[in-house]
Amino acid sequence: MERETRSHPNELSELPFCSAFAAALPCDPLDRNESRAVAQACYSPVLPTPVAAPRLLAWSDELAATLGIARPGAVDAPAVQVLAGNRLAPGMRPFAARYGGHQFGHWAGQLGDGRAISLGEIGSGVGAGWELQLKGAGRTPYSRHADGRAVLRSSLREFLCSEAMHGLGVPTTRALSLVTTGEPVLRDMFYDGNARPEPGAIVCRAAPSFVRFGNFEIHAALGEDDSLRRLADFVLERHFPEFGPPSPAAYAAMYREVSERTALMVAHWMRVGFVHGVMNTDNMSILGLTIDYGPYGWLEGYDPGWTPNTTDAAGRRYCYGNQPQIAAWNLARLGGALLSLVDDRDSLQQGLEHFGTEFERRYRGMLLQKLGLEALSGEGDDAWLDELFAVLGAVETDMTIFFRRLAQVPLAPGPRVGASSGDDELRRARLAPLVEAFYDPRVLEGEHGLRLAHWLEGLAARALSQARDPLRRAGVMNAVNPLYVPRNYLAQQAIDAATEGDPAPLERLLAVLRRPYEEQPGQESLAARRPEWARNRAGCSALSCSS
Ligand code: AMP
Ligand code: MG
Repeated sequence: MERETRSHPNELSELPFCSAFAAALPCDPLDRNESRAVAQACYSPVLPTPVAAPRLLAWSDELAATLGIARPGAVDAPAVQVLAGNRLAPGMRPFAARYGGHQFGHWAGQLGDGRAISLGEIGSGVGAGWELQLKGAGRTPYSRHADGRAVLRSSLREFLCSEAMHGLGVPTTRALSLVTTGEPVLRDMFYDGNARPEPGAIVCRAAPSFVRFGNFEIHAALGEDDSLRRLADFVLERHFPEFGPPSPAAYAAMYREVSERTALMVAHWMRVGFVHGVMNTDNMSILGLTIDYGPYGWLEGYDPGWTPNTTDAAGRRYCYGNQPQIAAWNLARLGGALLSLVDDRDSLQQGLEHFGTEFERRYRGMLLQKLGLEALSGEGDDAWLDELFAVLGAVETDMTIFFRRLAQVPLAPGPRVGASSGDDELRRARLAPLVEAFYDPRVLEGEHGLRLAHWLEGLAARALSQARDPLRRAGVMNAVNPLYVPRNYLAQQAIDAATEGDPAPLERLLAVLRRPYEEQPGQESLAARRPEWARNRAGCSALSCSS
């Protein structure tokens, strides 16, 4: 069919949808859109609540090509009406998924899609099987006391970061569009009793599945054996067919695979300096995708204890350095939820241990690439690696710039830096490319400069002993050390402009972040250190959960 090819993308409003999830799984027997506990069901059918004046603010051409969907012809085209929840495409049977979760270490009971509404899956063509979901499209039976809406600032952050993560090679849910609703949303951004109206927005996000660990946990917690089994069978057959038909062994194999994918995802987070900020089990994807972009952030100064989430400032449970352990903790909760199906604690335990092994393997591999080394197995290598992170943490050092510039550090003395000019000159030549990474470059003139230079000597010795072609080495390093990441203050600048009706800064940022490993002349300012004014500004360093 011609309409289904990439060169002839479909109008979203005419694209046929279906929903395997809704068709296969137990449905909420009550058809009432009011907050309540839902029993024995995987989802509740619910329609988006229409909005007053939707306008398309941003669009992901790249994802649209993957999905075979045409860019809307106007800011209020029929497709935009679909993306705002004002209209349905053929076959859409919208629903909110039911899930529970452990939040900040404690079982929180039923949560569910309180403001996300799945529209269904694309039924045919290049995008077949991708599920589209609107976030901020109105109340559902899982909204509790909240309004089911989302504000522009948090929606823009989700839109931007989803696509940036994809560009960085990090497994993630995607974002197709950002639509403003023309309706204000009341939010108390600083939780100080001063709620004020903010522009409302809706993100359309896409993934092969939005199932979370918490979808399983809710059935297990309430002893809903039948719906637990049906959910597990559905996810197994549809997303992990390689493990064969449902059986205890197949469920265990699926669990092991989820551990493996989660390990890969978190290793990537650590590689690029991403902090999710709210790693509750309801925010953990069964496909190992980064999901639910809320008070996330990017490490600027390297600090394993840093979290962008003000709600977590005291305990720092979800800080950068804790992410691997928290992922394992969350996987243990998923294992607990699957226990009645697998009925074999040992195989689940092995699946969980697989996370640790895989994370170490993946992260170590990425770290080697970041340093441009083939292997690290010599005596003293571990201590030398520990010293790297100690050095990075000792003074404020921009993680992204530091690693990116490492490829420019001269290993051997160059022609200008002959043995006769002494160690001093070589030391200076090695530190020079890294100066940009320091928020106070004067530290390099003192003790810290000597310490870093000593560590760089270790790097040079190791790299030279591995005799890799220098150009090839730099290529490997530059392919894993991004030049551009969506720094918190850059996202905030895009939000400020978008709030004034100007999408250009967002578009520029999105375009650059499509190719985060490539130098893009004219875009140097987007790769620079965070400016001082952004150090303590709301949204630029710390974020509340208010969204
Ligand atoms: P989050 O912290 O964004 O992962 O959300 C936790 C739970 O709260 C999920 O069940 C969300 O659907 C729900 N939630 C968050 N914000 C809202 C809102 N504005 N309206 C309704 N439900 C919400
Ligand atoms: Mg969530």
